[in-house]
Amino acid sequence: MTDQVRVRFAPSPTGPLHIGGVRTALFNYLFAKKHNGTFILRIEDTDQNRYVEGAEQYIIDALNWCNIPFDEGPNHNEKFGPYRQSERKHLYRDYAEKLIASGNAYYAFDTAESLDHHRKDHETQGKTFIYNWHNRKLLLNSLALSKEETQKKLDNGEDYVIRFKSPKDQTLQLTDIVRGDISIDTNILDDKVLFKSDGMPTYHLANIVDDHLMEITHVIRGEEWLPSLALHYQLYEAFGWEKPQFAHLPLLLKPTGKGKLSKRDGDKLGFPVFPLEWKDPQTGDISRGYKEDGYFADGLINFLAFLGWNPGTEQEQFTLEELVDAFELERVHKSGARFDPDKIKWFNHQY
Ligand code: GLU
Repeated sequence: MTDQVRVRFAPSPTGPLHIGGVRTALFNYLFAKKHNGTFILRIEDTDQNRYVEGAEQYIIDALNWCNIPFDEGPNHNEKFGPYRQSERKHLYRDYAEKLIASGNAYYAFDTAESLDHHRKDHETQGKTFIYNWHNRKLLLNSLALSKEETQKKLDNGEDYVIRFKSPKDQTLQLTDIVRGDISIDTNILDDKVLFKSDGMPTYHLANIVDDHLMEITHVIRGEEWLPSLALHYQLYEAFGWEKPQFAHLPLLLKPTGKGKLSKRDGDKLGFPVFPLEWKDPQTGDISRGYKEDGYFADGLINFLAFLGWNPGTEQEQFTLEELVDAFELERVHKSGARFDPDKIKWFNHQY
């Protein structure tokens, strides 16, 4: 792996960018600049059902408006970037097949009905349904099939997915820069789908493959991805790749400090989107972000920087350059960060 710091912000274009997303982008940017590294924007658009027209441009405009531009990407109309997973989709299937060849993944032909049936069956018995090769005999998946039988089903054009064969009977030791050491019993993990019947990879496969190919050294992302860390560790090990370091940023909490900040809270507070205007392609509704309300990028950047981080000094206002100097991942808080709308206003008035 490269000695140079390389980080990425990897949003899925499912709608306008929310506060938490911009904070993730900002922390990645600050970390990259502090270490003279590279900040990449990667659009994770492999889930065609959730794709929303216009969301990618919104994300790019928002980053530009905040003065946190990304540094590299493929050429698009003589301008670089961003990376788009939909333009790299030819890559992912090969990697799924490599895992099949090495015995770390398998074709599964379960129908949605049969999975639903097993799930309900477990529920009525008060058990959790875990799909993995330990209980495969119950589940009639393709691991119970011979190679020839599997090939026959593939030749017949039956619907399949490729699942990871998650290693069992281990205690996995995970390390997170913010959270510290975490132990996971691998028997609670299910065999996640890596490749779907529509010819697209799932988030997990595409994300790992790209982080590896793009030589990402630090994965800085929201805490909602912490539950995926064990699977990601196992995938790196199955591929035999060096892992990046991970840092999961604390959740954003409601203004009361109780419970996770939801999209609806944001809407109620008048902060639906950030920082620009968003026209919903389905309804045509327009949500106005901070820009229209006379907010300044510097005020917002300061507000965001203090959401789950502190400089360890009394300084309350920073320029972007000063934030770059002061920023340390080790000073990111473990506990959730309360979203306080009055603070945004306070910061804004300082500029
Ligand atoms: N595409 C994921 C998201 O929308 C990225 C998660 C990650 O950074 O690994 O949040």
